[in-house]
Amino acid sequence: MSSVPFDDRDGWIWLDGQFVPWREAKVHVLTHGLHYASAVFEGERMYGGEIYELTAHTKRLFESARILDFEIPYTVAEIDQACKDTCAKNGLEDAYIRPIAWRGSEMIGVSAQHTRIHVAIAVWDWPSYFKPEEKAKGIRMCWAKYKRPSPETEPVHAKATGLYMICTISKHAAEKDGYTDAMMLDYRGYIAESTGSNVFFIKDGVIHTPLPDCFLNGITRQSVIKLARAQGFEVVERHIKPEELATFSQCFVTGSAAEVTPVAQIGEYSFTPGALSLSLMDDYAKMVRRQLATT
Ligand code: PMP
Repeated sequence: MSSVPFDDRDGWIWLDGQFVPWREAKVHVLTHGLHYASAVFEGERMYGGEIYELTAHTKRLFESARILDFEIPYTVAEIDQACKDTCAKNGLEDAYIRPIAWRGSEMIGVSAQHTRIHVAIAVWDWPSYFKPEEKAKGIRMCWAKYKRPSPETEPVHAKATGLYMICTISKHAAEKDGYTDAMMLDYRGYIAESTGSNVFFIKDGVIHTPLPDCFLNGITRQSVIKLARAQGFEVVERHIKPEELATFSQCFVTGSAAEVTPVAQIGEYSFTPGALSLSLMDDYAKMVRRQLATT
């Protein structure tokens, strides 16, 4: 990734209904979202001028806000259009899109009913989440120290900033030890997800993936399940125990940023990126560019 800081770039950011020069898209230090994590966001990609699953992402943004007890003061159609307009304004046809909504500065404290809700959309060129050379041979992951919390502990189905605190800590620990990412278990000890993507395993031609009952049911995850089933593969959504990883031959992760990325290692378990993982990786890349006939 480029080393140019994210607050010091050329371009335009959509902020509360208007385009502002990139460097001027600022918030005050007494912003509720910064102090109390009252913020929700999305991560999307535009391929060849079209944002993949744009409305699904926008609807999830609205649903995440609703779960955090605030309402985004626009319609889904307006935010969809604003995402497209922001790409166009920045002259990008292949881009990563980051909408974010947060509570403002009118109140600072746990109670925040009368804060204004802000929305911003930034877009930038971001070709690959994992390095292309790693992607081909599979990324290496360790186990995360933290577990995905129970639905009784956190609003686990919102894509909310607060839920990423343990992801950043876990990813830093992984990178410090030379791994690319960390695999998180859930509060019961089942396999959950990585710090920014969902996970799939393959044995005997059958695809297995954890039930998303306490973490994000990723839009990419849902697309890949549909794609694999349309190709005649069996996909089983179930609870998976860590010790079962010894029985799987292939593994891959999915996400809007990560796309489909093969995994070579999770802790003590090794996998070999095989034909099915690699064909799903290629087919997903074609599908998002509308180059695949089956969807
Ligand atoms: N889990 C986490 C923690 C994530 O950050 C992401 C990326 N948004 C995903 C899963 C995958 O979600 P999606 O496919 O909707 O991008």
